[in-house]
Amino acid sequence: MKGIISVINSGSSSIKFSLFDQREPESLRLICRGQIDGIGVNPAFRVSNGDGEEIEEKRWPPEEGPDHAQLLDFLVNWIRKHRQALGLALLGVGHRVVHGGNIYSKPVIADELVLAALDKFSALAPLHQPHNLATIRAMQKLSPGTPQVTCFDTAFHTATPAVAQRYGLPRQLSEEGIRRYGFHGLSYEYVARRLTEIAPEVAQGRVIVAHLGSGASMCALKEGRSVASTMGFSAMDGLIMGTRPGNLDPGIILYLLEEKGYSPAEVSALLYRQSGLLGMSAISNDMRVLLKSDRQQAKDAIATFVYRIQRELGSLAAVLGGLDALVFTAGIGENSPEIREMSARSARWLGVELDHQANQRGDTRISTAYSRVSVWIVPTNEELMIAMHTKDVLSGRSHISTPE
Ligand code: ADP
Repeated sequence: MKGIISVINSGSSSIKFSLFDQREPESLRLICRGQIDGIGVNPAFRVSNGDGEEIEEKRWPPEEGPDHAQLLDFLVNWIRKHRQALGLALLGVGHRVVHGGNIYSKPVIADELVLAALDKFSALAPLHQPHNLATIRAMQKLSPGTPQVTCFDTAFHTATPAVAQRYGLPRQLSEEGIRRYGFHGLSYEYVARRLTEIAPEVAQGRVIVAHLGSGASMCALKEGRSVASTMGFSAMDGLIMGTRPGNLDPGIILYLLEEKGYSPAEVSALLYRQSGLLGMSAISNDMRVLLKSDRQQAKDAIATFVYRIQRELGSLAAVLGGLDALVFTAGIGENSPEIREMSARSARWLGVELDHQANQRGDTRISTAYSRVSVWIVPTNEELMIAMHTKDVLSGRSHISTPE
């Protein structure tokens, strides 16, 4: 069916969106993408077309201060006008939802039952899930009759072996849901799909994907399926990120609470907003800034970032029983030859040999012809993955799971 599929990624301070034109049953074309950021402070709306050229911008004076709900109302109206101008119907909206818990292994149309089940996972992802769900509920009211499809960051990992999901905690806590889930699943799913197009024989092997963005994680893929990930119960474990510390001895949390008098809210702020590259460098959470800096603390932060990649890579390769390919994706992975070079150098023992020039150019394949492990850059596209899922759910091609 012809029409538009909209994709929404709603957070506490920003709403990102994109519109895809579904002309043929199989093809999706990006019409535009944009975002409203600065929500609650200084909201600004920006949209660019499918070629990346800015087509619209709007700012609200701080005294007007539209809230999240009003901005969503604005966005729904903007989308309506835009699609009417194109003469296309809105077929459905795909939402990025961070947590599908242990129930949802596939995208699903959000009805009351689904939303009630997803509410229960809000405690597991308090910074994201409530905003994701509030946006879906608001859009159901603003566009009644338009299917709202939930696409989960955890879904791609639900088939990881049970042994990889367990923590060494009492059974009862595991049964309550304290276990490893893994995140960035929409990104890994997209990359796994792209690999089958770029290098089908590689996609069938043992692959580690390094999603290095402001949030960062790595995933071990065997025959295109997730078998282990560096993120666990929350999106905090594993690699060092822009403002999150990654892997941390839980004794540190106890020490902060019991000895240093931190409140839970202060620990949360420390772990989500003040640590990682920003905390270590005391300069910036942006890798570009750190790479340009001459200061020792920037160099130290980068060295620790890469060291953690080195360790996690070894750990995931052990789970896979060897390695056939390494893939870099997301902001840092796609754009930083320096970080790719340092990470690859740390994995030479595994048979990784980078082609320096291909890496500098940012080619799709960046390993030498003789490298035992091939190395790739595969730009991720979580929005397109959500649009593809939404299309499949709407056409009835995707299995629709319901909560137990
Ligand atoms: P997210 O979607 O999680 O916000 P992205 O995948 O867009 O993150 O990655 C954002 C990060 O990518 C930025 O914080 C920046 O540090 C990094 N980045 C972008 N371009 C470059 C570059 N050329 N060199 C190094 N890092 C870069």
